[in-house]
Amino acid sequence: MPTTINGPRVNIWKSHSMLIYNVKIHTISISDDICVDRWIGTSDDTMFWLDRWTGGNTLKTSFPEMYKLERHKHCKISDRLNDGRCNWNWKEIPTTTEQLQELHMLTNGVNTFQPVAQSDRWVCNLSSDGVFHVNVLRTQIDWRNRMPGEVLIKWTHEVLLKINCFIWRAKLHRLPTARALTRRGIQLMSVLCPYCELEEEDTTHVLFRCPLASKVWEYVGHWCNIPHLQFQNAEEMVKYVTQWGTCSKKRKTLTSICYGTAWSIWKARCDWIFKKQRTMPPRLADSVKSIVFTWIKHRRDRCNISWIEWCVSPFTIM
Ligand SMILES: [Zn+2]
Repeated sequence: MPTTINGPRVNIWKSHSMLIYNVKIHTISISDDICVDRWIGTSDDTMFWLDRWTGGNTLKTSFPEMYKLERHKHCKISDRLNDGRCNWNWKEIPTTTEQLQELHMLTNGVNTFQPVAQSDRWVCNLSSDGVFHVNVLRTQIDWRNRMPGEVLIKWTHEVLLKINCFIWRAKLHRLPTARALTRRGIQLMSVLCPYCELEEEDTTHVLFRCPLASKVWEYVGHWCNIPHLQFQNAEEMVKYVTQWGTCSKKRKTLTSICYGTAWSIWKARCDWIFKKQRTMPPRLADSVKSIVFTWIKHRRDRCNISWIEWCVSPFTIM
């Protein structure tokens, strides 16, 4: 039984109440040392039978015969344990061998519990303040699954979640390009880039090597006043924006711009294939300005950016 200095604890990742997290955490094999503990203080906010507060299971599961005899199934720990004494409230007096055996084990298991003068609460061992933060878990997951030398994607709030996911897929070469589809057995008329027809269409070509993409990056680089804003692949782009400059706000802006550029190029490619709408690089670069402006304007805290200034340079008014 895992224990803490203030009392028994429960590993919530193994708990039914966090089933979804449990599955995900189990998949990435970090369930052994990341947990949220139930710290029992005054014990008046934790259910004796139904919450998992001592041992690996609820007492209902561990002592089914006793649970059947319990008169108030939702009673709190403080209802049953007081000053080191057990205050049972049975419907009937335990008499059978099985019941007496369970009662003996149950009494031995819980009568060492001592309440302390604080409220019952959940404590997460990931953060120093004991509060569970999603972003801390996110960082842990990223670091624990990182390959040697791998650059982690900066998941930024300013960019829509679907764009973050898009970049993540691009970095893993998981976009449904002609090459990727062919590999999966899908027959296509041609695996060449539908825009330039110069090379096989893969993620790197679509987003960075295609003349269309290259031209868009050139326009965007000119607007950002960053010469040679060109990348070999998504990995290089992610690494670049993660390490660029010294101002975190400007770095965030450039991250949004680069993510937005890659997304716009991909969208233009899809528009051409599925709608036969061809977008020229200058217009695409303009749409990048517009899209990223909207993201930052509405998703960044206390952002007083104006469209005119933004068009002149995205970094002048941080
Ligand atoms: Zn191309």
